[in-house]
Amino acid sequence: MSNTIQESNEHLAAVLRAKRHEYGWSLDKAALETGVSKAMLGQIERGESSPTVATLWKIATGFHSSLSSFLEPIPVATTSGVVYRSSGAIRSQPASEGMLVAPLFPYEPRFGFELFELTLLPGYERYSEAHEAGVTEHVIVLRGNMEVLVDGEWMKLAEGQAVRFSADRAHGYRNTSERPAVFHNLIHYAPPDVAPTSGAG
Ligand code: MN
Repeated sequence: MSNTIQESNEHLAAVLRAKRHEYGWSLDKAALETGVSKAMLGQIERGESSPTVATLWKIATGFHSSLSSFLEPIPVATTSGVVYRSSGAIRSQPASEGMLVAPLFPYEPRFGFELFELTLLPGYERYSEAHEAGVTEHVIVLRGNMEVLVDGEWMKLAEGQAVRFSADRAHGYRNTSERPAVFHNLIHYAPPDVAPTSGAG
């Protein structure tokens, strides 16, 4: 993994400080908007914390931002605009939870989406709070078996199967099998003039 925890923490700290500056928010205000404690936000800004993906999502949603902007700088393209990526080189395990995260194509405003390769280790289960209005997720299983919680029901997905759902409501992911499950998660954000700015929280 070329992306060390220290580098990730420093990137996250810099982005959070920049976002707070951009919005003109105090730590108190940022805590109110994200639902993440002021103490935790302070630790993150000092590069002292490796937050869980759930915490990162709260921060991203509170700042009306993508998840990947807090994880990875936008990759460098060749002069002709080609971008090569290797999930093996960028895969990390935030907060040592049972999920590995590789932000293959971090969010860029002109494209409106981010693409992750995610790995659910056996037994891992995660509930996700609603993302901002207009956020759509696509889950495409590459390897193994997993389940996605959509509209209150766990839906089984095997290799090659895929689902798209509105992610502005509660949803979840789990792996009840004995093998890791690997999938692509393409998260599409509605253009700013379409998405209501009232955060779904
Ligand atoms: Mn989600």
